[in-house]
Amino acid sequence: MRQGHSYDAAAHPRLGRTRPLIGLAAATLTLAACGGGGGGDDAAAAYPDGDITFVVPFSAGGPTDTVTRLIAEPMSEELGQPIVVQNVEGAGGTIAAGEVAAAEPDGYTVLMHHIGMSTAPSLYNNLPYAPLEDFKTVGLVTEVPMTIVARQDFEPQTFEEMVEYVKANADTVTLANAGVGAASQLCGLLLQDALGVKLTEVPYEGTGPALTDLVAGEVDLMCDQTTNTTGQIQAGEIKAYAVTTAERVESLPDLPTTEEAGLPELQVGVWHGLYVPAETPDEIVQELTGALQVALQDQNVIDQLAELGAAPSSQEEATPEAHTERLSSQIDLWQPIIEEAGVSAD
Ligand code: ASP
Repeated sequence: MRQGHSYDAAAHPRLGRTRPLIGLAAATLTLAACGGGGGGDDAAAAYPDGDITFVVPFSAGGPTDTVTRLIAEPMSEELGQPIVVQNVEGAGGTIAAGEVAAAEPDGYTVLMHHIGMSTAPSLYNNLPYAPLEDFKTVGLVTEVPMTIVARQDFEPQTFEEMVEYVKANADTVTLANAGVGAASQLCGLLLQDALGVKLTEVPYEGTGPALTDLVAGEVDLMCDQTTNTTGQIQAGEIKAYAVTTAERVESLPDLPTTEEAGLPELQVGVWHGLYVPAETPDEIVQELTGALQVALQDQNVIDQLAELGAAPSSQEEATPEAHTERLSSQIDLWQPIIEEAGVSAD
């Protein structure tokens, strides 16, 4: 699954029509035989008739990228067209979202984003898009727990010891994340808030590279999705302290929940969804929603997500209505929390 090669994003025929993405790192995976381009007056009726680009707002190899590539394959089969996965990194996922908001509303540029879509409006004063106004939602994709993990030789052995250690050594402990607006940053923010400390945050373009540095012992702590951390936890390459959801995760049965470990206020689950620019015709959104629903029933997708501690969204959730409702309620949920924490990207 995890192939990729360097890619000149500016050369992409559809994204190239808006602003070129020159200078942004990108990686792609073509998942089916190539087809011709879309476009034209009756483009909605003909859709899809060419390559579709799924824009991932974080690095290749990270959790968002993993989920995207997993569903892109069966969606490509269902749509009968290639899906190209493109990583557009930076600013906690907001650069990619801004690019897709401004893209041609023809269904050939689709954004995969997560909970960060709902936190960014509270974190960025000059966000170049409004999540509820500048996109149409396609449907929810996954629910993913987060784990609090550390480099393997980080001194504390248990969650309780980690809490004590971090409180006592807040001036030296480093915390990796994928930038302001990333799920890892949100989770790290809640952790610092719960412990009453301010740690040195080390931002990456995604938690894929952050995990590499954690394994190498370059940073101390990280809070990240099980879709990124499960393999390294199971292999003993990193230390895991807790999972941030109400229930334990089947693939990591020994890991206590934050509630069990004594920090019930630290709860965050990551949800992903697909978005298209706001002016995209409804018929095109329906095509994408239908393909998403098929992909989420694919046994390989279900099995692989389960191995990584995640779950596919239900058929009812994989709809624009449920997705918009989630986005809107999550914006309302996180706004006062972020405001109270006094965090801003500006
Ligand atoms: N989704 C991750 C985060 O928000 C970043 C990534 O996918 O690399 O931290």
